[in-house]
Amino acid sequence: MTELTHPVSDLKGVGKETAAHLEALGIETISDLLWTFPHRHEDFRLKDLAQTPHNERVTVECKVEREPTVLFLGRNKSRLQVTVLAGRHLVKIVFFNQNYLKQKLVPGSIITVTGKWDRGRQVINGTTVTFGPKTDQVDFEPVYSLKGLIPQKRFRKYMRQVLDEFGAELPDAIPEHLQASYKLVSMREGLEGIHFPLDAQHAKQARRRFAYEELLNFQLRIQTLRKIRKDNEHGTMVQFDLQKLREFIESLPYELTGAQKRVVNEICKDLKEPHRMNRLLQGDVGSGKTVVAAICLYAAVTAGFQGALMAPTEILAEQHAENLMAWFEPFGVRVALLSGSTKTKARRLLLEALVNGEIDILIGTHALIQPDVVFHRLGFVITDEQHRFGVEQRRILRDKGENPDVLFMTATPIPRTLAITAFGEMDVSMIDEMPAGRKQIETHWMKKEQLSSVLSKLELELTAGRQAYAICPLIEESDKLDVQNAVDIYEQLASYFNGRYKVGLMHGRLPADEKDAVMRSFSEGDIQVLVSTTVVEVGVNVPNATFMVVYDAERFGLAQLHQLRGRVGRGEHQSYCVLIADPKSDEGKERMQSMTETNDGFRLAEKDLELRGPGDFFGRKQSGLPDFKVADLVHDYRTLETARKDATEMIEGDAFWQDEAYKYLRLMLEESGVLQGDRFD
Ligand code: ADP
Ligand code: MG
Repeated sequence: MTELTHPVSDLKGVGKETAAHLEALGIETISDLLWTFPHRHEDFRLKDLAQTPHNERVTVECKVEREPTVLFLGRNKSRLQVTVLAGRHLVKIVFFNQNYLKQKLVPGSIITVTGKWDRGRQVINGTTVTFGPKTDQVDFEPVYSLKGLIPQKRFRKYMRQVLDEFGAELPDAIPEHLQASYKLVSMREGLEGIHFPLDAQHAKQARRRFAYEELLNFQLRIQTLRKIRKDNEHGTMVQFDLQKLREFIESLPYELTGAQKRVVNEICKDLKEPHRMNRLLQGDVGSGKTVVAAICLYAAVTAGFQGALMAPTEILAEQHAENLMAWFEPFGVRVALLSGSTKTKARRLLLEALVNGEIDILIGTHALIQPDVVFHRLGFVITDEQHRFGVEQRRILRDKGENPDVLFMTATPIPRTLAITAFGEMDVSMIDEMPAGRKQIETHWMKKEQLSSVLSKLELELTAGRQAYAICPLIEESDKLDVQNAVDIYEQLASYFNGRYKVGLMHGRLPADEKDAVMRSFSEGDIQVLVSTTVVEVGVNVPNATFMVVYDAERFGLAQLHQLRGRVGRGEHQSYCVLIADPKSDEGKERMQSMTETNDGFRLAEKDLELRGPGDFFGRKQSGLPDFKVADLVHDYRTLETARKDATEMIEGDAFWQDEAYKYLRLMLEESGVLQGDRFD
């Protein structure tokens, strides 16, 4: 008796060679085969070319108009081209490496072709062809990624065999009452619909079921982790002094926005709880996260704890220190700054004061995580621009206290679907409102040849007493070229302004103290134009800067452009951002267009996700996102929300842990290891 766990070679028709090919595809057992899902479905229904968008796949019936021509491109490579009449369109069809088709494509004959429609060039890049009019047998077929090792048809034959033999006995993990209330198809039906769909609707229903199942399993793991942390980890109960906190908020130069008040409440409530806080604070550039951080740090101080704030760059750490020192001065809170450039003697004194509890809040860069930095009683840790730090760095800082509460701040707006997936085990607070009176930044997209008019506009701003940033193109993987570019642009602009205005240069290769000196001159207005690479991306605040020009803007992602743009529009004056770009791809054009249309970071983030997909969203770094088989974080966000709600309710209740109906979900949770405390961070 064959079983699902048996090797594929147990199947009829699978010999040694096929088994080897399957293994190369990662398919060793019969069960592996069953869980290999098609990456798309081919729709063989006839379409009208006039209605078909560029790059979409089509099937058309057409008449061969001329003799095909074949071009040989070297060893076993060829390109066959034939002109056909499809409906009223005279188009070309191209086949690669199928020169044997030449004899069969007789002028005057009818063929049915499937391929990708290149609308601009009026070409179908053909993949399959049948001779004669379309027969009505297949309208819809799955396509698997088989790397050409096994013909699709044969693969489907194996699949049929497996489904017929095992389909009936497969356990269904989703309890019946949930299937009924969400109108989900059963496991058996789902597998039929994925592998042998009758039509698009059938396949869609199947996808929907598996998307829910995947997301539910994922959320069960995440919510379990979260519950374990809340139940077992004894954090610090920060019993802050509400009255003092109120006085501090009163003393600030402005009234907090509604969103700032809300997140301060969320964070302070969490500080008071006995579990360890693990919270992400999201807020667009300029939404005012710093003051929120200050208020919450003060809460910890009033409860007798020390607080730490770690920033990714020295400039940023200094800016935070300056702000906090000014705000806290009347309240007698002792704030100190520690960075790589803190001198040896000052550093020694500072560390002594820190361990003796004579410093309340320590602000700094990575310098904070060095081993000899020892706190007296660290209760609350904040990391600013958290994506700039690795998991390990954040952990080291956290471990300097005894289960201190932790807040991560980020100005990279993350679409909600990704936030609750990638950071699902955290609580999320959002500042979704800007301080009143901010002027919208005007964004324009210009071509390279318009540079001189851009520079005239820039000079107008300088004449009015404002300052400007010139952002240099980003050259991936090459720090050196980045610097070269920055130097070139610096020289061009210096000669353009010819002493009328002072131009400064900033890039990642400058020593820290030079970077600081340049930044300080810019911030104090001694430099009017700052040429820079993306090092200014993060957090720098110079309210008098009202103009930004970004060179070769198409090289940047939306999230990064938005971050950069956030350097202007920080004061009372109208600000401008000019993107110089000649993007080649449609996607690039769409990115530039989106930038001119909205200043809303969350909308841009959604757009970015849509254009580039979740894998690229976080860049090349490990994203913390799981690989889903069918679930799609862009389109399945409602399902994700539902799965999250269901998972939370399940693990909170008793039924999930006891009832037979949840047996398989429970089993999968157990197998994932989270119950034994395997964790993500
Ligand atoms: P980010 O969230 O990007 O870190 P910041 O904390 O640097 O933003 O704040 C951006 C600017 O907005 C600062 O100049 C800050 O003083 C100002 N700001 C913050 N909150 C308010 C508020 N409620 N009303 C007016 N201005 C505010
Ligand atoms: Mg900030």
